[in-house]
Amino acid sequence: MLRAVTELTRNIAQLIYPNTCLICDAREGDSGMHRHGLCTECHHAVAVDPFPTCPWCAQTVGPHTNTANGCVECRGESHSFDAAVRLGPYAGKLRTAVLRTKVLAGEGLADLLGRTFAEHRGTNLAAQSIDVVAPVPLYWWRKWTRGYNQSAAVARELAAGLNVPFEPHLLYRIRHTTQHVQSSRTARQENIRGAFRLRLGARVTAQTILLVDDVMTTGSTASEAARVLRAAGADRVVVAVLARA
Ligand SMILES: [Zn+2]
Ligand SMILES: [Zn+2]
Repeated sequence: MLRAVTELTRNIAQLIYPNTCLICDAREGDSGMHRHGLCTECHHAVAVDPFPTCPWCAQTVGPHTNTANGCVECRGESHSFDAAVRLGPYAGKLRTAVLRTKVLAGEGLADLLGRTFAEHRGTNLAAQSIDVVAPVPLYWWRKWTRGYNQSAAVARELAAGLNVPFEPHLLYRIRHTTQHVQSSRTARQENIRGAFRLRLGARVTAQTILLVDDVMTTGSTASEAARVLRAAGADRVVVAVLARA
């Protein structure tokens, strides 16, 4: 409740002071010019990924790691997606930003992160020859209580940036899955199995789909959604996540 009030206060402040940074609340002038609703420092922090990443699972890797066969995180894993791209690691200001998108009226920030993603990773994503962009769906109850699906907001901006169709309801979630951060990889995989369905009548045959989620932890959720798309005939599934944990 207290958190909801804090959020409400902040969102009202946002309306009154539209030049407030959506991540750190700094007023314009406090820390340089604002760009896209973010202060210079926050924009730089979320737009620039300081680390090299694994092209298969988007995990941070060492500067001289050979990722031809994946990294320590994904080697030996049988993920159903073919590649993964991230805006950055789940830490610092990007983590704060992702957490802020999960509350009612966080949509403006989700849009903004999506635009930043398109702007700064667009070349990388365009090289994947994406046919359609779709979000990992939320269970209807979760979406209803949150007011929107933050991954869909990011997906919409990525589709616009790549100039390809956006399919907000390509997949739907048939049950809620609890997110236990501590649970094992196997437990997560079993928990998510069968949670997604392809929209009736949707055709994905021979397409390359960009599947968008906010955070990737073990990759189980994205992998299960990708498995459904592949089973329906999709050629390739590339995952885009705001942040990789
Ligand atoms: Zn800021
Ligand atoms: Zn990897």
